[in-house]
Amino acid sequence: MDSNLISLIDNLSMLTNLYDVVRIVDPLIKKTIYYDKSKGKVEISNNNCYDFWKSSEYCPNCISIRAYNENDTFVKIEYNKEKIYMLMASPITIGDKKYIFEMFKDITDTGIIENIYNKTVAEIQYFIKEMNDKIIKDELTGIYNKRFIYERLPIEILKSKSLKFPLSIIMTDIDFFKSVNDNYGHLAGDFILFEFASLIKSSIRKDNDWVARYGGEEFIIVLVNTDNNTAFKISEKIRKAVEEKVFEFDDNKIQITSSFGIYTLDENNFNLDIKAIIKYADEKLYEAKRTGRNKSIK
Ligand code: GH3
Ligand code: MG
Ligand code: MG
Repeated sequence: MDSNLISLIDNLSMLTNLYDVVRIVDPLIKKTIYYDKSKGKVEISNNNCYDFWKSSEYCPNCISIRAYNENDTFVKIEYNKEKIYMLMASPITIGDKKYIFEMFKDITDTGIIENIYNKTVAEIQYFIKEMNDKIIKDELTGIYNKRFIYERLPIEILKSKSLKFPLSIIMTDIDFFKSVNDNYGHLAGDFILFEFASLIKSSIRKDNDWVARYGGEEFIIVLVNTDNNTAFKISEKIRKAVEEKVFEFDDNKIQITSSFGIYTLDENNFNLDIKAIIKYADEKLYEAKRTGRNKSIK
């Protein structure tokens, strides 16, 4: 593998004249890899790939994990508080392992943002964040979308596994939601979806936990470093808050309930993949539905 990588790096060196940054990353562990001449071998850097963006957390709209999952090249624009870059991420295989080849081009002065030097860092950041958020956020509820689940969850699993932290996934679905639409109209239904998503978002930790819309009225909540019993308590807290909330739309006061299925990854089952985890959480949710709704099953 090392010899393949060395020849690749040799061949890529010509690109360093065309791009401002050229690097190879492992998007699952968020590290760059490089060839250490003195040691004569391939090393994994200590730094995280997202350090370049002067950020302390993963990039939500990570095109490298997308390139990895979809085996295709992706492009986006990103900002590191000093300069605007166009990024390109392409999959490459070295030995039997897939990595991502990233190329960044400084486009600060290309007019992508008009009168850039009159704008504050916050303004530029807002503009670029809005653009990047579109692809990973659900338009109706403003929380993450299904694409985000498939891009972020595998990384959460790997991270939990390496840190030996339990990872809990809650799948929730609004009960008899069809009748909300039937009785109060689709706009009322949309309003409730937005409020339901907001309620969940405000019930979980801001820094590491997240919630995404999986489909229609189904959501996935990811709780980092959270065991099964704690996830159950959080689930019940949300369930009760939903049950008690009165949603006011037009002149109607609407109340709903919701069901929850919880599945936890720990040292016993860290090797499961994302599809299996979603399936198991979905089975628990189905059990909650089947045995009366408005409950959590762990
Ligand atoms: P259950 O308790 O078994 O989950 O019953 P349910 O009525 O919630 O489930 P069902 O799957 O029969 O209906 C889901 C409904 O959700 C049907 C669909 O019209 C509605 N829905 C899905 N997406 C949206 C949306 O974006 N807006 C609105 N207003 N309704 C939606
Ligand atoms: Mg439902
Ligand atoms: Mg449903």
